[in-house]
Amino acid sequence: MRDRIIFATGNEGKMKEIRMLLQDLNYDIVSMKEAGIQADIVEDGNTFEENAAIKAKTIMEMTGEMVLADDSGLEVDAMDKAPGIYSARFMGENTSYDVKNNYILDQLKGLPQSERSARFVCAIACAYPDGEIVTARAAIEGYIGHERIGDNGFGYDPVFWVPEFGCTFAQLSAEQKNKISHRGKALKVMKEIIRNRK
Ligand code: IMP
Repeated sequence: MRDRIIFATGNEGKMKEIRMLLQDLNYDIVSMKEAGIQADIVEDGNTFEENAAIKAKTIMEMTGEMVLADDSGLEVDAMDKAPGIYSARFMGENTSYDVKNNYILDQLKGLPQSERSARFVCAIACAYPDGEIVTARAAIEGYIGHERIGDNGFGYDPVFWVPEFGCTFAQLSAEQKNKISHRGKALKVMKEIIRNRK
């Protein structure tokens, strides 16, 4: 039987991406739901890394197992890097992403491309049962578009314009997005860290 890693997220959209990204790692990747864990974790860190580490450590301490967690978000330069670490909670946890995305588009109305820069950031933390915690971070640079475009992905994908593809994240296939995304790149680094520790 293979060893397993619990990925500490309740977000199904994210979990789908993560399974694809970690399929070549020699572990079974299970969600918190699959592991039968329910936890309301207070993400009160000041950085993506701190929040990822809080999540991974909390679940590792509950289970005694190896745990991965991520913390990610969108930084919009014209909005002082908001929503940033508050991306999931921005305008309220239960507010739809159509509403959140429209708000961002409104905030940037009339601004030229040079003032529409933004990036998705992702920090991954791995908490080992012996207490060691390691983190990795990556980002993808892009622009906020002028309207919501595309139906793929989740969250802020429809307003995030990717220059190298000339479309939004929500117009890319999962495979295309994973190759270049903040999460894809951060997980690639983390996979190497995990492989080298064994
Ligand atoms: P977390 O679960 O605390 O890391 O919150 C991340 C939030 O950032 C998500 O709920 C989304 O709002 C946003 N986000 C992070 N990554 C992406 C992405 O790849 N596409 C769209 N939105 C994202």
